[in-house]
Amino acid sequence: MLSDGVFDRRRQRLVDQMREHGISDERVLAAIGSTHRHRFVEKAFRPRAYEDEALPIGMKQTISQPFTVAYQTMLLDVQPGDRILEVGTGSGYQAAVLCEMGARVFSIERHRPLLARTRDLLASLGYRVALKTGDGTLGWASQAPFDGVVITAGASEAPETLLRQLRIEGEDDKPAGRLVAPVGNRETQTMWLYRRLAEDRYEKTASRQFKFVPLIGQQGGL
Ligand code: SAM
Repeated sequence: MLSDGVFDRRRQRLVDQMREHGISDERVLAAIGSTHRHRFVEKAFRPRAYEDEALPIGMKQTISQPFTVAYQTMLLDVQPGDRILEVGTGSGYQAAVLCEMGARVFSIERHRPLLARTRDLLASLGYRVALKTGDGTLGWASQAPFDGVVITAGASEAPETLLRQLRIEGEDDKPAGRLVAPVGNRETQTMWLYRRLAEDRYEKTASRQFKFVPLIGQQGGL
């Protein structure tokens, strides 16, 4: 069995690797450095927990690659106290990273048994995340507006309902709400960042290519 010291060293090496690969936000790097990814994977995969790779978490789903989590978190530009909605709780790792950034985290997962396991894990690690089972493409209206929404599965388009649950720039003297979503087909997706500038006006920016498991839902599913 690997000791905590070994995991600590591997986690620090992962942070250095993220920095070399272009993650420039030191707060994101600090969050990756303080989130124990080995606790979010099955015991058999723990020796690989700090490799930059996606790993299986059951039900044909994966915990995202650390670079992907760091990249999406960087695009979200999370500020302490921000209300962030995650679509696709999975292992809970991305939600934990967002908590480490000081966000108030809401997360939706469509697989009930996966969410039950993740709920227990997050609680046992001391992370407070509001969780629910369901179709995350429909958002969480009663908790909107959100400062950020992150979709952690590949979509065919950015779900309209999620865009409309973003904070409008200037509301409560806060910056525009951001939505980060991988959009494309089943083979590859482009990471898009949307910022809600006015009721019906969004700024859209495309960045790198990724490959996610598909988003399954009423809006933007693949
Ligand atoms: N964020 C996760 C983590 O840190 O482990 C990675 C999640 S995995 C790449 C994508 C997840 O999205 C899967 O658990 C899948 O069941 C979930 N998912 C797919 N479509 C969904 C939907 N419409 N609503 C909620 N969850 C969805």
